[in-house]
Amino acid sequence: MLRKTLFGLSFLVFVFFDAAAQVARPKLVVGLVIDQMRWDYLYRYSNMYGASGFKRLLNEGFSAENAMIPYAPTVTAAGHTCIYTGSVPAIHGIVANDWIERETGKRMYCATDTTVQPVGSGSLWEGQMSPRNMLVNSVADELRLATNFRSKVIGIALKDRGGIFPAGHSANAAYWFDDKTGQWITSSYYMTKLPAWVQRYNDRRVPDSLMRTDWNLLYDPSKYIQSTGDDMSWERLLESDNKRTFPHSYTSVIGSKRYDPFRSSPYGTTYTLDFAREIIRHEQMGQRGETDMLCVSVSSTDYVGHRYGPNSLEVQDMYLRLDKEIASFLNYLDQTMGKGNYLLFLSADHGAPNNAEFLKSNKYVNAGNLVGDDAVKSMNRFCLGKFGDGMLVKKVYDFQAYLDLKRIDSLGLNVKTVKKEIVEYLKSLPEIWNAFDEEDLMSTVLPPVVKDKIANSYYYRRSGDVQYFYKPQYIEGPSNGTEHGAWYPYDSHIPCVFFGWGVKAGKTNRETYMTDIAPTVAAMLRIQMPGGCIGKVITEIIK
Ligand SMILES: [Zn+2]
Repeated sequence: MLRKTLFGLSFLVFVFFDAAAQVARPKLVVGLVIDQMRWDYLYRYSNMYGASGFKRLLNEGFSAENAMIPYAPTVTAAGHTCIYTGSVPAIHGIVANDWIERETGKRMYCATDTTVQPVGSGSLWEGQMSPRNMLVNSVADELRLATNFRSKVIGIALKDRGGIFPAGHSANAAYWFDDKTGQWITSSYYMTKLPAWVQRYNDRRVPDSLMRTDWNLLYDPSKYIQSTGDDMSWERLLESDNKRTFPHSYTSVIGSKRYDPFRSSPYGTTYTLDFAREIIRHEQMGQRGETDMLCVSVSSTDYVGHRYGPNSLEVQDMYLRLDKEIASFLNYLDQTMGKGNYLLFLSADHGAPNNAEFLKSNKYVNAGNLVGDDAVKSMNRFCLGKFGDGMLVKKVYDFQAYLDLKRIDSLGLNVKTVKKEIVEYLKSLPEIWNAFDEEDLMSTVLPPVVKDKIANSYYYRRSGDVQYFYKPQYIEGPSNGTEHGAWYPYDSHIPCVFFGWGVKAGKTNRETYMTDIAPTVAAMLRIQMPGGCIGKVITEIIK
């Protein structure tokens, strides 16, 4: 009798500890960021999407239909960082893709880290990368912390910044594309040499086999009723064949030392998702009894978007192909993890405006371009006339002018006066919507929503001195293709779809933010939200 009771007690104790130890979590979390995916692309090509790609995500998952980016400039590095940290540039420090460090006066690329060495690449420029410049941690770091680093986290994207920041500081690995070889590379921040399986994968030279086939439209051109014609003067030429029409040929890239045209192809998507499958297989992601996280970013959609603009056949065909790639990736995850055993979210780092020439051809009078470097030249020309020196503006990044503060000082000029005069000059230009001294943001008359977005972006150690914005539909960059970065909805309204483990099917039209994604993932996994997080949990998503 006594023995029986003791047995019962120990059984109870066992159950108690077991229940406390086992927090219900999915096997794998997959973050899928589609670079430059406007929210409307979820629906724009619906008539040609299949049932198992975007439509499956929307039908079985939860869509926050009005997810907005709560800061500007809306660019890749800031976007990927925001999605995974729930934080904004003012706090996470990734204010843009490039900036000038106030302390040194030197240019900084967001992911550059000269303390590390390339791994798998001979190029310092391509390989000296890490998340060092990111001041906070990501939700992937929090997952690692929550499981005492038993969870594996890996980030991948053709763009280094698309995989590095999401995977966070404690990532097991991040891999990106080497323009010199077309291979996946990493840095000594993560490892001293590529895993043997990655080397074997690289040796297969997948980009070369993909590029042996020209990029042709998937269907008959007459079916592409959502796009303008193929040969539009406002499209950029593809470097590999010097053309802007189908078929696009990449054969000149094979075996060369310049693989960058590969980025502007649908093959970039295939290559990324193929490598994602390889990672899951070789690293046993989601199959080790711990929750792992794979941070995938599809970069090629951005390169193609920049080149041809949102209304092009190329962008439409990219998304039709991406739809199929997503369908097959979901199918792979179903088979490997089991349906409902993985949590996937899909979002984008930013959107994009239509090309100004295309808009003008459709009676939009208020549309246009101003080339970035010309903005520097034009401000310096103004300064030469006003202050007798034409080198006061060093650089413009994403609508922020960085002044040469040392030079201004050595010339005995008052920096406040210089900024004030530049602001007045910018405001006199017909393309400019508004301009202000960054330090005067709070006393500048602006719609509160815009003021919030700018305040969310301003980090004094890295942000510029004078901020300006173009009028809607005016872009900084060449008159062909497109450029993003503004606060306007075409740049800042992004998809936010959750799918799989723990997700209630449905949608909400209330306004949510890019910053809400990380805390929602954290809440679902029952882990701490990231250190700089200012977002709120989208509670409707959670079952
Ligand atoms: Zn871009």
